[in-house]
Amino acid sequence: MITATDLQPFCSRDPKRETLHMPWSEGDKTYATDGRIAVMVDRVPDVMENPEAPKGLAVNIFGPFNNITKSIEVPDVGERTEPESVHCPECRGSGVCKLCDNGSCHHCKGEGVVMIEEKPWQINGEFGFNRRYLRLIQKLPNLRLFLDLENEVNMARFTFDGGEGRLALIYIE
Ligand SMILES: [Zn+2]
Ligand SMILES: [Zn+2]
Repeated sequence: MITATDLQPFCSRDPKRETLHMPWSEGDKTYATDGRIAVMVDRVPDVMENPEAPKGLAVNIFGPFNNITKSIEVPDVGERTEPESVHCPECRGSGVCKLCDNGSCHHCKGEGVVMIEEKPWQINGEFGFNRRYLRLIQKLPNLRLFLDLENEVNMARFTFDGGEGRLALIYIE
């Protein structure tokens, strides 16, 4: 049984996307998305409806990609091994820097650290998956992943016990 807590990691933490910070219910389904990954499950009783949530997500995201039926093996990316952040190379971790007129460093927003993006898990030379999302979906019960690179090049579909989801592909430059 999927709970509100299980859905929270699929929600956005972007301060500019406040309406996506929590899962919400609509009709007989409950949704969670951060704009790059989305899940839809049978309605979870303790998840409220949210009039601010994006209407018609089912129609826009869960409708058009229904026909991706080519099953692929779920990549096992393991745990992240390299550090998630480093000392800011500009202010060297102090948060204040000469290049920024001895004020709060713009490069790290005064925090002294910068986050390091993980390299995508490559599907081929052109497309990949964000490894963080692969780790997230790996925990879902009876997960299956579907991808059709010939016809749908920007989205993968996944299913699991009690729901399904969509995962946007990353274009590798
Ligand atoms: Zn800095
Ligand atoms: Zn600086």
